[in-house]
Amino acid sequence: MKTSAAILPAEPAATVSREERARRLAMRYSASDARDILAHAIGQEFAGGIALVSSFGAESAVLLHMVAEIDRTLPVLFLETGKHFAQTLSYKKKLVQRLGLSDVRELRPDGDALAAQDGQGDLWKRDADACCTLRKVRPLDGALKAFDAWITGRKQFHGGGRAALPAFEANATHIKVNPLIRWGKDDVEAYMLAHDLPRHPLTGQGYPSIGCWPCTHPVAAGDDVRAGRWRGAAKTECGIHGR
Ligand code: SF4
Repeated sequence: MKTSAAILPAEPAATVSREERARRLAMRYSASDARDILAHAIGQEFAGGIALVSSFGAESAVLLHMVAEIDRTLPVLFLETGKHFAQTLSYKKKLVQRLGLSDVRELRPDGDALAAQDGQGDLWKRDADACCTLRKVRPLDGALKAFDAWITGRKQFHGGGRAALPAFEANATHIKVNPLIRWGKDDVEAYMLAHDLPRHPLTGQGYPSIGCWPCTHPVAAGDDVRAGRWRGAAKTECGIHGR
């Protein structure tokens, strides 16, 4: 889908609220493709003040590849929870090398808070929300203070609260850019094939969505993409998108 996004000026950030700015951007780019949305957000609208947050999971290679084609030096934030599958860490290394990403930052939980709240490393069993807050939400909140906006890989077909996502949305502190909202499984697959992108090793073992190992399980064919996340619990999101 061709658009004129590259020649449009940035929204006047200083004169409108964050919510209004996101609303205007979402309308303006409602028919644009993912690359145009990204190019505008990275090169114009939030130039120098935007980062990609990536889990290096099952579908992450698509957005990482698009970003690398626009700006390999863009900060990429990875939540190093200490609970990732070894396969995720090896996949991350492989993708970073392949794509030439030069500013991948590992965000870790605060050491004192970790010792105080999760000395045995089993907080996920007792209170998954507290574990996600400690290992994901707080480290990301700290890192995002350096940015005005961040890019996510969320897609409407993932369901739940993602079904009606706009391409730009505001929360209490930032604008979130969601370039892949309208992408489906087939789009992801086609892009992976077209660019010969490596696969996360667990996708071939029934894991269509991959997070921390204690909270990620394989799913049956035909199940929702995120059905294996926090399986058996009411929890469906880690909390980084909850504000
Ligand atoms: S996904 Fe599980 S292990 Fe990872 S931070 Fe959340 S509760 Fe803890």
